[in-house]
Amino acid sequence: MIEREEIRETLNRYDRDKLTLAVLCSHSALQIVHGAKLEGFRTIGICPEERKRAYSAFMLARPDEFMVVDRFADILDEENQRALLDSNAIVMPHGSFVEYVGAERLLEEFHVPMFGNRNSLRWEAERGKQREWLERAGLSVPRQYKDPSEIEGKAFVKFSGAKGGRGFFTISSEDEYEMKMERELERGTITEEDAETVTIQEFVSGVRYYPHYFHSLFDLRGAAAGDGAIEILGMDRRIEPIDECYRGLPDVPQEFFDYTVTGNEPLAVREKLLVDLIEMGTEVVLTSRELFPPGMNGPFCLETVYHPSRGFTAFEISGRIVAGTNLFPTGSPYSAMVFEEPMSMGRRMAREIRDGSERGELERAVY
Ligand code: AMP
Repeated sequence: MIEREEIRETLNRYDRDKLTLAVLCSHSALQIVHGAKLEGFRTIGICPEERKRAYSAFMLARPDEFMVVDRFADILDEENQRALLDSNAIVMPHGSFVEYVGAERLLEEFHVPMFGNRNSLRWEAERGKQREWLERAGLSVPRQYKDPSEIEGKAFVKFSGAKGGRGFFTISSEDEYEMKMERELERGTITEEDAETVTIQEFVSGVRYYPHYFHSLFDLRGAAAGDGAIEILGMDRRIEPIDECYRGLPDVPQEFFDYTVTGNEPLAVREKLLVDLIEMGTEVVLTSRELFPPGMNGPFCLETVYHPSRGFTAFEISGRIVAGTNLFPTGSPYSAMVFEEPMSMGRRMAREIRDGSERGELERAVY
């Protein structure tokens, strides 16, 4: 486990006037580079050679420098870490970073400072830990079944890790569970290893909302949370083939019964529901302070289902930037109520680094 103290010492050695923000070229990298440049930072894009062309194609989001690796996980190689440290780099973590490198390896082997609290990546990476976090925060979560024989009504079967919904399915009985599990293994959408991480949950009916939160330690313009504040900077819904299954009516082709995330669409929630969402975000932040002190800072997302008779149910939390924020490179209907200038989540992260650095408190926001 890399200690906070080590990162603090590294930051102390950094030239604060030459901080560089580094990102893996995937997920939300364009938005992050774009925002970092607006805030006046130098940027490094880390990627395999074949991605350089695409990540050079957006002039305002083109990294100032590329660090070429064979595979993303090579970022852990000593020479690459050395090069990042020599560039006074702070890495901006996102979903692909966690997926390709692995939360455990990041915590044990990655010596380069990262924006946010790296412990939140561990807490989001495991479904058991996520659930403990959400439950302790007082959020309503889907009922969980230990064994398929326990299910009542419709249930949802999912697997660990950021799989983006691939291979997930619904069941209504134990027999259906056995049958569909075998089918997915045969098709290769899941592996034996995935099957060992299976979670069976109550299927939650309603409308999905994915609010994009930011927990700031330095800027109190949002809703008070601990000694900082939380902002809602945007909202989306993920789109999956199942969302369009009606197009196959009356005999819907099997291919539509697929929960793999394929994109995102922007969303505004009925305004009074913001009361609940602000409360939920606040409780999640306060609970993180107890579970892994000093708690989560920076971007996070609650993946929720809302039903008028049941309220919000949170089925997942992401303790870092989510790809749904890519919808709002120049801000959203919510960020416009918080910032006068166009504020994407990527820019917000860079702004927090700038604020922390100017106050001489960067080590509070970076670990
Ligand atoms: P996840 O990887 O947990 O974000 O799940 C991927 C997709 O599966 C979500 O976007 C939802 O469409 C669906 N989903 C996940 N959990 C549930 C649940 N408990 N009930 C109904 N749908 C769910």
